[in-house]
Amino acid sequence: MTRYIFITGGVVSSLGKGLASASLGALLQARGYKVRLRKLDPYLNVDPGTMSPYEHGECYVTDDGAETDLDLGHYERFLGRPCTKNDNITTGRIYLDIISRERRGDYLGTTIQVIPHVTNRIKEFILHGNEDLDFVLVEIGGTVGDIEGLPFFEAIRQLKQQLPRGHAVFVHLTLLPFIASAGELKTKPTQHSVAELRSIGIQPDVLLCRSDRPIPSEERHKLSLFCNVRESAVVEALDAKSIYDVPLAYHAAGLDTEILAAFEINGAPEPDLGRWEEISDRINNPEGEVTIAIVGKYTEWVDSYKSVIEALTHGGIANKVRVNLKWIGSELFEAEDPASHLEDVDGILIPGGFGERGIEGMINAVRYAREHRIPFFGICFGMQMAVIEASRSLLGLKEANSTEFRPTPEPVVGLLTEWVAGGVVHRRAADGDLGGTMRLGAYPAVLASGSLAAEIYGKREISERHRHRYEVNITYRDRLEKHGFIFSGMSPDGILPEVVELRNHPWFVGVQFHPELKSRPFDVHPLFRSFIHAALEQSRLV
Ligand code: GLN
Repeated sequence: MTRYIFITGGVVSSLGKGLASASLGALLQARGYKVRLRKLDPYLNVDPGTMSPYEHGECYVTDDGAETDLDLGHYERFLGRPCTKNDNITTGRIYLDIISRERRGDYLGTTIQVIPHVTNRIKEFILHGNEDLDFVLVEIGGTVGDIEGLPFFEAIRQLKQQLPRGHAVFVHLTLLPFIASAGELKTKPTQHSVAELRSIGIQPDVLLCRSDRPIPSEERHKLSLFCNVRESAVVEALDAKSIYDVPLAYHAAGLDTEILAAFEINGAPEPDLGRWEEISDRINNPEGEVTIAIVGKYTEWVDSYKSVIEALTHGGIANKVRVNLKWIGSELFEAEDPASHLEDVDGILIPGGFGERGIEGMINAVRYAREHRIPFFGICFGMQMAVIEASRSLLGLKEANSTEFRPTPEPVVGLLTEWVAGGVVHRRAADGDLGGTMRLGAYPAVLASGSLAAEIYGKREISERHRHRYEVNITYRDRLEKHGFIFSGMSPDGILPEVVELRNHPWFVGVQFHPELKSRPFDVHPLFRSFIHAALEQSRLV
């Protein structure tokens, strides 16, 4: 029978609850258990798809086309198990569902209330589809005390009573701030946070305490007494140099042992942490370094590019180098020559993006990479910018642009109004809804034999995740290919360009999809492995 671990957060947000959940999942998996992670988000958006990256960070896309919370990226990277649309739910989705049922008449005669209707939907979501799993870890977004979190806390409180005895454990992640003037780690905020949890009927079994220094035994004792947890269940979560050190650190601090003890599981297999040791060793002892410029729009808020950053780190793990990132807001290149900012970098990456701001700067960055033979990687928007640049510079089409910004006589990137997925025709109009209506999720592509892309992947048929509304316009293909700008990956029906690359350049690849979403530290995405390899070669030239 599946066991449940509920992870809540207290004191402040941004303590890394997603990472803590993913790391605990990885430790249980390393003991041979089958594990799944799920996230409950108390906000009212139906999904994070329409939120600005400044609000929410990256929007992580699953194979089945859900736009989800970026914590699902951590779950996939740490467990290697693809998440689905059923692994993230928001208050908005629950209400949308309940209200549509109400309108249909499904609740005829009943008053619909938060308890039991909303809480029942939350419980159904948590329990659904968990056959064959040993542990389901459920992370509750936000912090204890948030008004919108209450139905979720109530639902998990109820669940503990409904599951068989000993099948639910509560982990509470908190912060022990160090107060310099007192020279002490303070436990009071944690005491308050646990008091708040207990007032709504939840007694944590394990306290995971973020702290920038070891917790003295006196504070540990205090936390145990005041928060009503065992002293051994006050687990220290020290700041780590790399997120990939966290599973090892939590294991050393006793987290997984304490969880198993809380479930009264005796004789669990010891974890095999070999792969985490290898990853941690490669990250902490690199044999060289490369510098990659990321030229984008949301560069002051790098959570917007979470998976890109991680995939670049993975490329470094594969090549045994440290990857330094140089963040550049693309608008800079509208005012200044890119040369002074890009001459010392070993690779240039333009990530996904939306809207017109900064595009001319991105186009200037592409031109610099193309002309100066610097490895270039364009992802989604980045590929579209590369096509616009090539059309302007190689074909002389000064008006070349994307219809995302305005009508143009040379629409080298245009709105996709019709496509087929899973045998179903999807149609979109320029004035249609914006939520959940992009080309989303996994789509197949075929790579041209003899292309760089086919060589990198080592195969010709691939499947990658998409999240975009506009497509490169195939009518410009022949002209661009005559100039060595090759369309090396296409949708199987030959209509949608998926990969472009430049002949006679050390490494110039644009992809319409998001390869960063499928990279894992122990299974590095071939494009990131190859890009960092090319950057390493470049660094040896300089
Ligand atoms: N804005 C572009 C589009 O919608 C690119 C999107 C992206 O980079 N994810 O097609």
